[in-house]
Amino acid sequence: MVQLFIPLNFLGFVYREIRQALINIEKMLGLLREKAAVVDADNAAPLMLKDGAVSFDNVHFSYHTQRPILKGVSFTVPAGKKVAVVGSSGAGKSTLSKLLFRFYDAAGGSILIDGQDVRQVTQRSLREAIGVVPQDTVLFNDSLQYNVAYGNPAASQAEIDEALSLANLQEFIASLPDGINTQVGERGLKVSGGEKQRIAIARVLLKKPKILIFDEATSALDSHSESAIMEAINRVAKNRTTLIIAHRLSTIRDADHIVVLDNGVVVEQGSHGALLAYQGLYSALWKVQQQKNDA
Ligand code: ADP
Ligand code: MG
Repeated sequence: MVQLFIPLNFLGFVYREIRQALINIEKMLGLLREKAAVVDADNAAPLMLKDGAVSFDNVHFSYHTQRPILKGVSFTVPAGKKVAVVGSSGAGKSTLSKLLFRFYDAAGGSILIDGQDVRQVTQRSLREAIGVVPQDTVLFNDSLQYNVAYGNPAASQAEIDEALSLANLQEFIASLPDGINTQVGERGLKVSGGEKQRIAIARVLLKKPKILIFDEATSALDSHSESAIMEAINRVAKNRTTLIIAHRLSTIRDADHIVVLDNGVVVEQGSHGALLAYQGLYSALWKVQQQKNDA
C-alpha cells in the first residue's frame, strides 16, 4: 500500500505541475494577445506633425466588452491651446489620454492629430510627439541629472538647464550640496511630491513634445506646491497643445476650454464662466470644491 501511495501522490503532484504550467502558458498567450492588440498598421507612416491639433471624434471604448467606458466622446484641443478634462473619478479621463497615446485602440470613432488617425501612424512617431506627466512620477535611484536627461538622452546641457528653469527647479537644485548630481529616488534624497512633479515636467520638456498631457499631475499635492506646479505648467503649456486632466477645478479655471466628462459621456463643455452660468454638473462640482476650500 505504501508503495502504491507514493507514486499516486507523486502523479498527483506531476498533474498539478502540468496543469499549472498549462495555465501559465494560457496566461502568457493571453498577455501576448493583449500586447499585440496595438500594432503598427501595415502601411503606417510617421506622423506628419504640423501644429499638434488633437481631436476626439465620437470615440467609443471598453476595456472589457461588456462594460463601455467611453460612449461617443467628441471634443477638440486646438493647436497650441490648453483644454481641461474634468469629471469625477472613474469618468474615463485617464482612458482618453491612454487612447491618445495609443496604449489601447478605440473601438469606434477616431482620434486625430493634425488630421491623422493615431491608428494609421507609427507608434514611435506618435509617442515622440506626446509628453505625459502622470499623477505619480517614479524617480530612478540615480542623480537628478540622470532623472531629467532620461527624457532625451541626446539633450545638451543647455537644453537640460532650460528645462530645469522652465520647470521651476533651479532654486531647488542650487540649494542642494551636490546640486544636479544629488542622488534621488528610494535610496537618495527624499524629494517632496511637488519637487518630484517638477522633475517630471523637466523630463517631459526635454522631449520637446508638441502635445502635452498632464494627468492629475497636481492632485497628490497640497495647494501650496500645487500653485508652484501650475505656474510651471502654464509656462510650458504656452504654444503647445495641452490636455490637462484634473480633479481639482481651481487648477484649470483659466483653461481655454473645459470638457466635463461624466460616466464616459461629455455632458458639458465651454469656458469656466460659461459653465458656471450653465448651472450644471460643473457648477455643482465647483460649488462643492469651493465649500471645501472655505472649510
Ligand atoms: P478617471 O481617470 O476619470 O478616474 P479612468 O479612465 O481611469 O477614469 O477609468 C474609467 C473606468 O475604466 C473606471 O471604471 C476604471 O475602473 C476602468 N478601468 C481603467 N483602467 C482599466 C483597465 N486597465 N482595465 C479595466 N478597467 C479599467
Ligand atoms: Mg485618472
